[in-house]
Amino acid sequence: MQRIVLASSNRGKLAEFGELLADSGFEVIAQSSLGIGDAEETGLSFVENALLKARHAAQASALPALADDSGLCVPALGGAPGLHSARYAGGHGDSAANNARLLQALHGLPDARRDAFFICVLVLLRGADDPAPLIVEGRWHGRVLDAPRGTQGFGYDPLFLPHGQSQSAAELDPALKNRLSHRGQALAQLHARLASEV
Ligand code: IMP
Repeated sequence: MQRIVLASSNRGKLAEFGELLADSGFEVIAQSSLGIGDAEETGLSFVENALLKARHAAQASALPALADDSGLCVPALGGAPGLHSARYAGGHGDSAANNARLLQALHGLPDARRDAFFICVLVLLRGADDPAPLIVEGRWHGRVLDAPRGTQGFGYDPLFLPHGQSQSAAELDPALKNRLSHRGQALAQLHARLASEV
């Protein structure tokens, strides 16, 4: 098994990526287990930040590295919360405050202007100098509700009504969410790309 460093310390992601990559011949290890800290996310787009994170982990570990970056974009807000999704209201990861700020920003806007999409970019570097990183992207389109619905999921899920669904992302069965979501789509693509490269 080839070891690969995950540029995240999120346990949920470690498990998810670990399962997905096991049958591609990779053993996924968290960067924190090698004493590697977080990269500075100075990029202006999701793909730039995912690359920065993957390169930081590959450089520090001398191993292949995988990074993801994700968030919610609302075109009517110029793409916000965007790169700042986790800290839209100030504190990192305060979902209740982030959701309240999003509702405030969209207050009074009709459904037609409440379109939004989640995006997830995954970058796999075979090494810090890999000139041809494997990059995949998933997008999940929907619209922002005018009040939260549901208790499952995390982040903006209670406010996100996926196109074609009658339930918010926080009301959907978690397995269905994982299949439809931006992350699910990106992971499926990564899996397919790795399979076609072997
Ligand atoms: P990260 O890339 O995992 O750090 O995610 C950035 C932020 O985007 C999270 O803190 C959430 O606010 C938001 N986000 C990303 N994916 C989802 C999702 O599937 N549901 C709800 N919020 C999400």
